[in-house]
Amino acid sequence: MSKTRIFFCKPQNAYMSLANCSELRERPVGKASAGSQPRLLACERCEMYKFVDKAKVPTVSLNEYVEGTKPEALPA
Ligand code: SF4
Repeated sequence: MSKTRIFFCKPQNAYMSLANCSELRERPVGKASAGSQPRLLACERCEMYKFVDKAKVPTVSLNEYVEGTKPEALPA
C-alpha cells in the first residue's frame, strides 16, 4: 500500500499519512538526542499501529484527501 495514503489516527485524533505513522514511531523514546524529537506519548501508548502495519485501517489516497474525502476511523 502506498505510504502516502491517509488514515485517521485515533490516538492523536488526526488524519495522517502511513509514512507519517512510521516516522513518528521511529523516533526515540524518552529523552532524545539534540536535534531529534522524542516519540509522542500517543505513539508510545498506541495500539493502533498494528492495524496500520497490517493494512487494516481505512485509507484514502492523498488526492482524494485533498479533494475532501476523509478516511473512516477504525471502529472502537
Ligand atoms: S503510532 Fe499510533 S499514535 Fe502514532 S501515528 Fe501511528 S497510529 Fe497514530
